[in-house]
Amino acid sequence: MKIDLHTHSSVSDGTDTPTGLVMKALNAGLDVIALTDHDTFDGVAEAQEAGKRIGVRVVSGIEMSAEHGGRSVHLLGYGCDPFHRPLLEELTHIRVDRTARMPDMVQRLNGLGLEVTLEDVQAAAKGAPAIGRPHIADALVARGHVADRDEAFARWIAEDGPAYVKRYATPLERAIDLVHEAGGVAVIAHPWGRGGREVLSAPYIERLVYEHGLEGIEVDHPDHDDDTRSLLFEMGARLGLVRTGSSDYHGTGKKRNPLGANLTRPSAFRDLTSRIKRRGGVA
Ligand code: AMP
Ligand code: MN
Ligand code: MN
Ligand code: MN
Repeated sequence: MKIDLHTHSSVSDGTDTPTGLVMKALNAGLDVIALTDHDTFDGVAEAQEAGKRIGVRVVSGIEMSAEHGGRSVHLLGYGCDPFHRPLLEELTHIRVDRTARMPDMVQRLNGLGLEVTLEDVQAAAKGAPAIGRPHIADALVARGHVADRDEAFARWIAEDGPAYVKRYATPLERAIDLVHEAGGVAVIAHPWGRGGREVLSAPYIERLVYEHGLEGIEVDHPDHDDDTRSLLFEMGARLGLVRTGSSDYHGTGKKRNPLGANLTRPSAFRDLTSRIKRRGGVA
């Protein structure tokens, strides 16, 4: 059984529609995917309907933009009630602020000598409910300023880049509690990818488990090297965590993350779904 628990559609910053994503999952030989768009459940119903038609199980998921100590952390929630009001209100807050900084970022890019407009960025987002940095990256590609999203981030818009503007994200502990209140299970996405180890120390992760009931960590992820995966695998075992594997697929938006690039073991998936049921969520 092939299981990939972290994917994005064009409803956030992936490039496939939810239906297109499910079709690609079938072609990649996957049996189960979770759709985990950033800060929205908007694609889940379509993906699940497509999954029923096509024969791929689609788990309802989300990747919440959270922060700890002023640094960005991503939290995966599985099986949440997609109509839970406090969670929806928080997601709206995140999305509004994510998009509200776009004029500032465009202005900074213009100040750095790059010709790009807010309309370019809107066109690149193709109606997605939240416009984010990947869409700016796409606009810079379309204008010929950079070759791909990676170059856009590396040169201009990464967190330490010259055109970066900070935005609101939910404090991590509150994000975990909200996922639980919505009946879902909380798994930290790529905890030690891209400098994450300075933000999420092992003792802090342990505290999240004992004080907030954190259920899991992503272990096999394209941003983790082999040593990191071993360390996280051992730590997760010690703390009794669900240890997942996934691609973090974004379509053509992230070329290094093909569907099924990493997989979740069936036993870990069974553990995840039984925890979702215990929380009262939809597995
Ligand atoms: P934002 O939420 O607007 O701050 O944008 C963050 C998103 O940018 C994340 O969800 C990632 O998917 C994406 N991202 C971050 N770094 C890179 C990169 N180097 N290349 C492509 N996408 C990236
Ligand atoms: Mn993304
Ligand atoms: Mn992420
Ligand atoms: Mn992701």
